[in-house]
Amino acid sequence: MNETIRADFPILSQQVYGHPLVYLDNAATTQKPRSVVEAIAQQYYTTNANVHRGVHYLSQQATDLHEAARERVRRFINANKASEIVFTRGTTEAINLLATSGGEAFLNEGDEVIVSEMEHHSNIVPWQLLRQRKGIVIKPCPITDQGALDMEALARLFTPRTRLVSLCHVSNVLGTVNPIRQIAEMVHAHGALLAVDAAQSVPHRRVDVQEMGCDFLSFSGHKAYGPTGIGVLYGREALLEQMPPYQGGGEMIARVSFEKTTYAQLPYKFEAGTPDYVGSHALAVALDYMENLGLETIAAHERTITDYATARLSTIPGLRIYGTTADKEAVIAFNIEGIHPLDLGTLLDRLGIAIRTGHHCAEPLMKRFGTEGMARASFALYTTRAEIDQLVGAIERVRKMF
Ligand code: PLP
Repeated sequence: MNETIRADFPILSQQVYGHPLVYLDNAATTQKPRSVVEAIAQQYYTTNANVHRGVHYLSQQATDLHEAARERVRRFINANKASEIVFTRGTTEAINLLATSGGEAFLNEGDEVIVSEMEHHSNIVPWQLLRQRKGIVIKPCPITDQGALDMEALARLFTPRTRLVSLCHVSNVLGTVNPIRQIAEMVHAHGALLAVDAAQSVPHRRVDVQEMGCDFLSFSGHKAYGPTGIGVLYGREALLEQMPPYQGGGEMIARVSFEKTTYAQLPYKFEAGTPDYVGSHALAVALDYMENLGLETIAAHERTITDYATARLSTIPGLRIYGTTADKEAVIAFNIEGIHPLDLGTLLDRLGIAIRTGHHCAEPLMKRFGTEGMARASFALYTTRAEIDQLVGAIERVRKMF
């Protein structure tokens, strides 16, 4: 399966510093299959016109593609209606939209938002900005030494002031998969809302918003084989209806006068300005690519790779893996005694191996584990065992230098 799949990703066949590229930074962004790159080129060659505005042929074609992409996303995450799919620039903008607009609609001074110690900064800072504006209270839920959400501590954090819980589905560092369905029941029993950051789950496993029972969900196209600059905020219709617009401008209005402006219906109320209609179409092509391979097939392959990498890395003396829960996604964060992760990343790079090092936009998590940074190898549907062997061999070479 791998050779034909790898042929779909021309970037993977290049050499870096005279070594075959081993790309293990997929949690930061995935590479794009030919079909996605070609869809972008084709649209600019044949179907480029601004959407929703023109009566002319090209504009209608572009609009049809854009709206078909919305429907494609709806099906992919099993939302009820296409109008519940708001296109954004990515997860970060989706959470900022929610914190700004949802913050306006649902949160007042003294109301509480629960996040967790394993959140990406994009699920922390927007809530801090809201705290500055409205005086909300942010309560971080602790995690265990294995990197699991501490469910008992979570249960204790709820008070009558809890309005929203905003958690990642999968941690971008630990790979931990949070039990969203169970959390949704807990959240709703307290009359609060649940927002899920699915940036690291959508690329790897089936995400079904109805089955999960979440109220909001966000993800980024570029982490799921799609282009940069496009992402999604899903929200339940009844909630999106209550939220004021996020930005003002074209597309999001019904009528404008100097005295009074009325807003467009969902989802356009949240999509001011020309949307990334080329990106939305390319995202739909990326989702097609994943479904054509089969989400279960992708998940099974990544499971094998992650287990293999965990086993091989564990044999390296002094190597500590962070995040050791049973249900874990295709990412391994680690440190090696006596080697700074930045040195490790830099030296591996010279051997053609791309990993990520640093705080991974999760400084509170680094603090939780008492470290400034970690090295992180993250996998995708095209990662091979041979690449894991190259990683392990290269780490062994680096270790000998210290
Ligand atoms: N949330 C998680 C869990 C992530 O891993 C990332 C990116 O690494 C983000 C949010 C932010 O995604 P983006 O930069 O695409 O907006």
